[in-house]
Amino acid sequence: MRAVLSLVTAVAATSELPRINLNAKSMLEGKWWAQVGDHVVHTPHAKTGLSSNVGDYYYAYGSHAALSQELQEKRVAGAGRVHIFHLPEGKDALSTALPKVSHRRDSVSALVQLSHKVVLSDAKLFPDFNLPEDYASGLSASGQQKEKQVTDSITSSALMQKLKVQLADMLLALGLTRQDQKELTELGDGSTHTRSYSNPKATANAVSFLEKEFQEMGYRTCRQTFGDQADVVAFLPGSDADSGSVTVGAHYDSRPFEGLAPGAVDNGSGATAVLEIAKAFAAAGVRPKKTIMFVCFAAEEPGLLGSAEFAKRLSSAAASSFVQDGMNASSQLVSRMCGSDSGSLAFMQAQSSAATMRRRSRHEKHEALVMDEVAWKSPNIDDSLGAVVNLESYDWATEPLKHLAGASRAANGERLKVTHSSNPFGSDHMSFLEKGMQSVLSIHGDDENYPHYHQSSDAMDQVNSELYTMIAKMNAGAAIRLAGHA
Ligand SMILES: [Zn+2]
Repeated sequence: MRAVLSLVTAVAATSELPRINLNAKSMLEGKWWAQVGDHVVHTPHAKTGLSSNVGDYYYAYGSHAALSQELQEKRVAGAGRVHIFHLPEGKDALSTALPKVSHRRDSVSALVQLSHKVVLSDAKLFPDFNLPEDYASGLSASGQQKEKQVTDSITSSALMQKLKVQLADMLLALGLTRQDQKELTELGDGSTHTRSYSNPKATANAVSFLEKEFQEMGYRTCRQTFGDQADVVAFLPGSDADSGSVTVGAHYDSRPFEGLAPGAVDNGSGATAVLEIAKAFAAAGVRPKKTIMFVCFAAEEPGLLGSAEFAKRLSSAAASSFVQDGMNASSQLVSRMCGSDSGSLAFMQAQSSAATMRRRSRHEKHEALVMDEVAWKSPNIDDSLGAVVNLESYDWATEPLKHLAGASRAANGERLKVTHSSNPFGSDHMSFLEKGMQSVLSIHGDDENYPHYHQSSDAMDQVNSELYTMIAKMNAGAAIRLAGHA
């Protein structure tokens, strides 16, 4: 019996949806079709054993390597990193869960039911993000001026210098000075240059480095600890902290887990951008309405652990548990994000009144800008298109999406092409989205093809300073637009 069953499976696995060229789709009268990259798949013949009902098919985005054995067997079409699966019993009938709590190439997006005429990108380049015609930044004249001051002060040379210092394998290759060597050796574990979450000494050194950086800028900071890991958070209190917060975040850990792991693009670039944006805000004296939190997340690589801890504390459900009467919103947010153990949080919960809880959770709105791999310029993207950033999030993340695109237009003009994928997966933005908070990932435009991904060769020579600087400016401007300015 087992043999027969596996034979049936094998037959089903070899069936694929029929495909034709894009320009021939007018011949498909009476059939459903879906565009997959440069071609069209359509209603299969009964003899293939595949259902003729379009609703029996689902699609997801992600690396082929991230698909489980079960999904690979049910894959009936696809191109690049979009995959179509035949699931006549529905997606909930899958026996293995989608691998979604891991890093980019080990993850796939949520399964979405296929529909007639849907257009699926084969992901070399996602479609342009179209800024709504009636878009406005919402900032006053002085807020706009502050935004310009901030984005002007984020320079390529400062970003590159800070990134060199933050990385750990650069001292000889780049001929850095003695002072730089001293700073560099604060990272890694003294013998191997890494920020891997699994190396306790390297993690502790990275945390101290980041904390010191924020403190030198004048920020109040905290270590948000969980297990043996810690997110590093810097606070810029808002004038109307009751209205919520804006998070600017990136993970600081790197891969591979063993050996040299400089992680220049992934994610020295993101973490360093957070530092430089924070520095620009401090120098310009930004006075936001919402509280802004600059965060370097721990342990993204083993499964988005740091951002999950952060988002859990930030979500409104948690808010209503951690509120204390008589505490202003800004201090309340600090204690809820930084409370070190569940015992003290439980104490605070016991002190809260139901009325306070209701008041807070009704008004607060939290949004997050996440940067990961923001510095590699793909040679696969036609030079005439210039530099490309991809904004990845569900379409309901309207506020950060439009403000990112708007801020980029102001700071970068047409030099940065802004694309959008509405099938998010596999980075820290997911931790917020899963809690219902609007969050957008900025990532370079061809993230599937970075050849040094998770390797010891993910080093400084892979960094494109021009693309990197434009993405940092975009996120800085968007943070002011989201937070508002007093
Ligand atoms: Zn990463």
